Amino acid sequence: MFNNLSDKLDKAFHVLKGHGSITEINVAETLKEVRRALLDADVNYKIAKDFTAKVKDEAIGQDVLTTLNPGQLMVKIVKDELAQLMGGEASGINLSGNPSIILMSGLQGSGKTTFSGKLALFLKNKKSKQPLLVACDVYRPAAINQLKVVGEQIGVEVYTEEDNKNPVEIAQNAIKYAKANGKNTVIIDTAGRLAVDEEMMNEISNIHKAIQPQETLFVVDSMTGQDAVNTAKAFNDILNFDGVILTKLDGDTRGGAALSIKSVVNKPIKFIGTGEKMEAIDIFYPERMAERILGMGDVISLVERAQEQYDEEEARKLQKKIAKDEFGFDDFLKQIQQIKKMGNMKDLVGMIPGAGKMMKDVDIDDDAFKGIEAMIHSMTPQERSNPALINGSRKKRIAKGSGNQVQEVNQLLKQFSQMSKMMKMMQGGGAKKMMQMMKG
Ligand code: GDP
Repeated sequence: MFNNLSDKLDKAFHVLKGHGSITEINVAETLKEVRRALLDADVNYKIAKDFTAKVKDEAIGQDVLTTLNPGQLMVKIVKDELAQLMGGEASGINLSGNPSIILMSGLQGSGKTTFSGKLALFLKNKKSKQPLLVACDVYRPAAINQLKVVGEQIGVEVYTEEDNKNPVEIAQNAIKYAKANGKNTVIIDTAGRLAVDEEMMNEISNIHKAIQPQETLFVVDSMTGQDAVNTAKAFNDILNFDGVILTKLDGDTRGGAALSIKSVVNKPIKFIGTGEKMEAIDIFYPERMAERILGMGDVISLVERAQEQYDEEEARKLQKKIAKDEFGFDDFLKQIQQIKKMGNMKDLVGMIPGAGKMMKDVDIDDDAFKGIEAMIHSMTPQERSNPALINGSRKKRIAKGSGNQVQEVNQLLKQFSQMSKMMKMMQGGGAKKMMQMMKG
């Protein structure tokens, strides 16, 4: 995410970080580089110029030149301004209606249908809502099918009227249906077109007027940069929407839309899409995003994701097993599955301070654990609970069964044994000891 921008900002600060004493010239040079980085990220000229002007004012106000660590202070000022630029505080969505009605708008291909599914799943799992998805695209039968597939995948009902060509009526009927069937959140997916045109705008505006949603969300592909911003403006003029959904951030190396959209339409970015899977949705936190852009990682999100997957009951069972030396490969497999549920690997690594930059050229994909999983699946239940059984011939069989080399099986066994030892040590009040050891 935003790798290009991160790189360029990092270079901009290089000038400051490398100098013992910092002069006004250094600061001016850094600001020029920051501005260039923003322009390269496809941020519009005026926004980039205002941004650096604000940073400069702050730097003068805080007397950067006389502080102990001017480089660090400058990075902090830029971080705060970036967060401000992207909206400052995170903003939630309004779910006060009964049912709450959420209307999706945006161009075709922006990720509306995918996001409708993601939001339904998010509201179902995290907010205990009973969502109903509504297919209002009367032009493309494929779009209706797509929403049905999504609904099936996440276990959420989808309302359709395949013979009705009137989207306003469908939306109204869907709301009645929701009321009658105990659905407290209605998410309406509408038809988009490849570009802004009058017909589409009239249609979405008619739906909007007729159903008066609590939330009108504008969905946009973040990779389209300035186009995204222009489209946002066109939709906002008609709908006065409540918030922006930026999709495909996982593929966006520049970040221009994320940085500009708030100041152009003055509406917050509420959620981001970070992948094709239904779980790839995040609440947008401007400050955390600013930290990620500047390579500071996002430890808070990382810990939150870990906490979401944390199951106290399971953790207690695991503890007992470790104490009794019964930790086996089945438990290991469970751990891997939990990590995978936290999100895609590249995204997770990007949340570790400093690691995002270090690992940016390393191709980490979701299949990172595939080899390990295949090897564990090739083990017998006895071997999984008692790895000591795995002798030479068993290793050969496991390697063959999983399409690996014996060397890789050896490596897995070694890692597993090291991990078991470490966990045992942590259990016996050793965590403290280990920390002391690491500190030296
Ligand atoms: P719609 O026409 O606006 O309903 O767009 P779709 O929901 O059909 O999405 C268009 C394409 O973008 C599909 O191939 C989706 O899988 C993909 N897509 C949607 N959101 C994301 C995202 O956050 N990341 C990535 N990488 N792809 C996405």
